[in-house]
Amino acid sequence: MISYKDLGLVNTKEMFKKAVDGGYAIPAFNFNTMEQMQAIVQAAVETKSPVIMQVSKGARQYANATILRYMAQGAVEYAKELGCEKPQIVLHLDHGDSFETCKSCIDMGFSSVMIDGSHLPYDENVALTKKVVEYAHQFDVTVEGELGVLAGVEDEVSAEESHYTKPEEVKDFVSKTGVDSLAISIGTSHGAHKFKPEQCELVNGVYVPPPLAFDVLKEIETELPGFPIVLHGSSSVPMDEVNTINQFGGKLEAAIGIPEEQLRKASESAVCKINIDSDSRLAMTAAIRKVFAEKPAEFDPRKYLGPARDNMKKLYMHKIVNVLGSNDKL
Ligand SMILES: [Zn+2]
Repeated sequence: MISYKDLGLVNTKEMFKKAVDGGYAIPAFNFNTMEQMQAIVQAAVETKSPVIMQVSKGARQYANATILRYMAQGAVEYAKELGCEKPQIVLHLDHGDSFETCKSCIDMGFSSVMIDGSHLPYDENVALTKKVVEYAHQFDVTVEGELGVLAGVEDEVSAEESHYTKPEEVKDFVSKTGVDSLAISIGTSHGAHKFKPEQCELVNGVYVPPPLAFDVLKEIETELPGFPIVLHGSSSVPMDEVNTINQFGGKLEAAIGIPEEQLRKASESAVCKINIDSDSRLAMTAAIRKVFAEKPAEFDPRKYLGPARDNMKKLYMHKIVNVLGSNDKL
């Protein structure tokens, strides 16, 4: 049993409270490579932002669970080396699918886990989430639950259509399970193709998707005043990255995300954690494609992974400062 506290990590409790009170959101960036980890830490240190580094089940399979855990420990030390005296870094399991997965993360030094029972019947979701909370809270590990279903594909998680969270269920769910935060469904979705062009309005050559269901969010906030709310699937799919990818041989057709103004608006509410994964994948891919196209003789991985890291760092800093508002909060 390894305690996250010995690794210098923190749980989400304090962080979320401050974010809800302060009207901003904490970035939750997925990582599975060293370059992503470095870019996340550099961006968080330079902007003086707390940060959630999250790992999905797919990432644990890809990179190896032990390696990722040591990378998170390394992230804390790296942040200190970069001049941050007290880094606020959370190591979070994204979309935990079973009690066993959550337990294994908690036992290995994670400071926060998500148990995603959103696909289960309500009562089973309650029972599973409660079981994880009871285990996690013994070790001061925070737990995120989910109600409602997001459309899209993300590692092992996929759903054809979304179902908005039912505001009438949230209070009962939170009190029965004891979760520390709740992921909801109000129109965000996983992946880089969140909407079909026919669902959008074409404004000056840009697809503008339907707005998030702020009325549902408002009702949830009324049911649970001040309770930390989480948004998954909140990449914006920046057109400049998509265009770079396509310009240099990629084939990403009609990739559409959540407009950043919508996320900025959500950050000012009880939404205090916003998950961003696809945008970093796009930034990485765009930078690598550009190097490959412009310097076809290049074969030193540092010469294309380095620019990829720089491009991701730029993206993370932009999100922190211009979208979530978590800068200067350490
Ligand atoms: Zn998700």
